Amino acid sequence: MKKIGVLTSGGDSPGMNAAIRAVVRSALAKGVSVVGICRGFAGLIERDFTMLDSLAVGNIIQRGGTILKTSRSEKFKTPEGRERAADNLRREKVEGLVVIGGDGSFRGAWELAKEHDIPIVGIPATIDNDIYGTDYTIGFDTAVNTALDAIDRIRDTALSFERIFFIEVMGRLSGFIALEVGISSGAEEVLLPELKTDIDEICRDIREGLRRGKRSYIIIVAEGDEQGGAFTVAEKVKKKIDIEYRVCILGHVQRGGAPTAIDRILASKLGSKAVETLLEGVRGVMVGEVNRELVTTPFPDTWKKKKPIDEELVRLIKVLS
Ligand code: ADP
Repeated sequence: MKKIGVLTSGGDSPGMNAAIRAVVRSALAKGVSVVGICRGFAGLIERDFTMLDSLAVGNIIQRGGTILKTSRSEKFKTPEGRERAADNLRREKVEGLVVIGGDGSFRGAWELAKEHDIPIVGIPATIDNDIYGTDYTIGFDTAVNTALDAIDRIRDTALSFERIFFIEVMGRLSGFIALEVGISSGAEEVLLPELKTDIDEICRDIREGLRRGKRSYIIIVAEGDEQGGAFTVAEKVKKKIDIEYRVCILGHVQRGGAPTAIDRILASKLGSKAVETLLEGVRGVMVGEVNRELVTTPFPDTWKKKKPIDEELVRLIKVLS
């Protein structure tokens, strides 16, 4: 392989730049040149390419977002769109592709790989951490720390006013952020899409807490909880017990910011592993880290298999609150 391409696709996450840097510099070290594909699959269809040398990826390891930009492309979901994308890769003499993104991006990559026989390796980057085949995804640790910082501040004001706070964190389909933020912020309750939420039980816990002399109460709600987001859950609780409450939706702040050391290290390892994997001739897989070992997982497993949440953490939150 003499030339490979790299793109970022779908939801952005802190650490994508560190992954791009690792891909480019690992490839260059092996005598392989790298084409940066701008705006994900949309840029692949429109041939929005830029050559990436070592200097081009200098001074980006600490920056959030992605220098290559990202997008969602409806055209890429059609065989015609993917035909054009494959054509552009052939014309540019790109022999392999690294896709940095979430499981949606891997589905797209898999279609392209199957239809046009293109070697593709994926790198998991999403703040949600909901991808099978890696213990952590790039960006998750940063998102957790950003949310944690905000919640620590909210706790100060919650305590001063003796209030109950319902804090919504990102996670439409998964509660990984909510769970880690819950345990590390010392929250009283955590509501996750993966587990049934019982409003009566929450009300009982709040009453019990107040009786024991608790002066503030922090409830973390993953946005995809089956009882609804933080506003809806707060209203449901308010109907059963007369409390004064506040709601805070953390939203997109969780997606930005400088990546933590953990995310930069993970991105560096996975970027390098992705290039190594491509050059070894392995394709149609995602690279990941499981139990501190770098592994590969076939693309379809990354969305078909489900990574379980750590139920021990759920139990711990109850015990420690
Ligand atoms: P993420 O990678 O963050 O999960 P998305 O789910 O938005 O992001 O997917 C990113 C892009 O991947 C989509 O906009 C689309 O272009 C492509 N894609 C997703 N699913 C498919 C699919 N089943 N077939 C082809 N392309 C897909």
